Amino acid sequence: MQDNLTLSIIKPDAVARHITGKINEMIEGAGFSIVAQKLIRITKEQAQRFYDVHKDKPFYDDLCNYISSGAVVVQVLKKENAIADYRKLMGATNPEKAEEGTIRKKYAISIDQNSVHGSDAEDTARREISFFFSETELVGC
Ligand code: ATP
Ligand code: MG
Repeated sequence: MQDNLTLSIIKPDAVARHITGKINEMIEGAGFSIVAQKLIRITKEQAQRFYDVHKDKPFYDDLCNYISSGAVVVQVLKKENAIADYRKLMGATNPEKAEEGTIRKKYAISIDQNSVHGSDAEDTARREISFFFSETELVGC
């Protein structure tokens, strides 16, 4: 896998508000191809493993409870420079600090309910994609 793939999660706040399509429109409008996608419910145990890197942070428990609180859409996005470009499209973690035109500026409710996740580096993208998808599920590659 290369830096042209990144893992995106459309988080429970966005799926519950039925804005998956609107977010996908922004993603595709920015030149990404959605090469794999599924609607799932992440278990608490999976959330704890997925967010293991944050286990010493004060928000770890709340984060794991939140991401497992409702349906999410996990997806693999493809584009040249996908990791950095998707983080740019997502905007700052805290939506109050997110720039105009970003997904979080437009749709996020709070720093917890911030609508989307995106991988932050090549090694984490590889780990996060294989956390949810097998090679054969990357049908758009
Ligand atoms: P994500 O990993 O979801 O793409 P991010 O990379 O912008 O977001 P991280 O630092 O990886 O931010 O934090 C993971 C998630 O933990 C954030 O999306 C946010 O919901 C939550 N979080 C981060 N910092 C805080 C904080 N200071 N207070 C509360 N929640 C936080
Ligand atoms: Mg992160």
